[in-house]
Amino acid sequence: MAIVELLLAEDVDVTAKTDKSETPLSLAKGNGHRQVVELLVQHVVRDIAPAGARQAKPGKSLLDGAAAKFTIPKRNLEIPEQMLPCVVNLRRIYAAIKEYEKEKGKLPDWLSDLVPEYLTKEMLLCPHNPVHNNRNNPDPNMPCSYNYQFSVTRLGNFKGMTSRDRKMAQMRLFGNVVPLVRCRMHGQMWLALTVNGRVYLSPIMWEHLFMPDYVPGQELLVQHAAEAFASVEAQQVKRGKSRLEGATTTFTIPKQNLEIPEQMQSCVVNLRRIHAAIKEYEKDRGKLPDWLSDLVPEYLSKERLLCPHNPVHNNRNYPDPKMPCSYIYEFSVARRGGPYKDMTTREHKIGQMRLFGGLVPLVRCRMHGQMWLALTVDGRIYLSPIMWVHLFMPDYIVGQELLD
Ligand SMILES: [Zn+2]
Ligand SMILES: [Zn+2]
Repeated sequence: MAIVELLLAEDVDVTAKTDKSETPLSLAKGNGHRQVVELLVQHVVRDIAPAGARQAKPGKSLLDGAAAKFTIPKRNLEIPEQMLPCVVNLRRIYAAIKEYEKEKGKLPDWLSDLVPEYLTKEMLLCPHNPVHNNRNNPDPNMPCSYNYQFSVTRLGNFKGMTSRDRKMAQMRLFGNVVPLVRCRMHGQMWLALTVNGRVYLSPIMWEHLFMPDYVPGQELLVQHAAEAFASVEAQQVKRGKSRLEGATTTFTIPKQNLEIPEQMQSCVVNLRRIHAAIKEYEKDRGKLPDWLSDLVPEYLSKERLLCPHNPVHNNRNYPDPKMPCSYIYEFSVARRGGPYKDMTTREHKIGQMRLFGGLVPLVRCRMHGQMWLALTVDGRIYLSPIMWVHLFMPDYIVGQELLD
């Protein structure tokens, strides 16, 4: 352990691969070195801003390393005439930040750090609307229209990350189109100055210009986290424990969500049978079923896989590959798309159990309108909104379970 800690302190690349595509993490995992796995995962998650390490190396700009991953659409590069004075400011600010970084070896914490040595204080005010102070990441030292994305403001819903940490993580996903400074003083479209000095018009969520299905926090989902979850499961298997047990949580299901309407009770009966069947299957075979259809016919009749409320519809989320099934089996081996790509839904849910414990849904039914029925891993049934996590954590961000 001491050697591993020493190596990590030396800033080795823990994501390096051997010619067999093994990483230090996969090797440690393969050899059952649990403490090493935990340490490496911690290291990777903490090192979410890899550019931060590069910054320590002399002579390199924090802003230079970003790759060209996306093209800015041509129409977003056509800046209307009336915004050009602001563009002039942004270009001056860019030059000042680069100059500051070159001389001081770090980025300014705030744009006001550039005044007066690198910039006049008038340059911090958008000519279009010099009265307004910026409400996002407001500068603590002087009036400033601009939103400095690499400030050291702490972000409330990103667990104490600074705005800069987050932007550096986003550089891994978006490369050099990540905004360094933005101006919101021009109506619906914002002006964005990128880390490599270009200026474009962006919607409020600039990410959607490049990745329409982006969800906040997506940049924090690292491959290594998926591997870590696999190791959590492996440990449970070793201990001969049920994967569905032992998860604790500080959350309580609200009372009104436990009051299931009469017309849903026949579905509740199915869900209880399914829970018993899954537990029985796991006890006999030492693993969870990959699909609910694996339970048929030995543990469950195939009729139980159809919600009595709407037995015609096949479930569209992770559909069962073998037979008609109304239910969403959250612990299936279906691969997740979007931000969780490469993870199975089961790995994702095991990760969420670290945050939500036994309240994570094992099976859900969406055949009853707005509210879904959720069967938890510990066998309780509640009414949940589509995003069940919001019932317990209204400000949950996708991937948050990977940060805890
Ligand atoms: Zn402006
Ligand atoms: Zn149902």
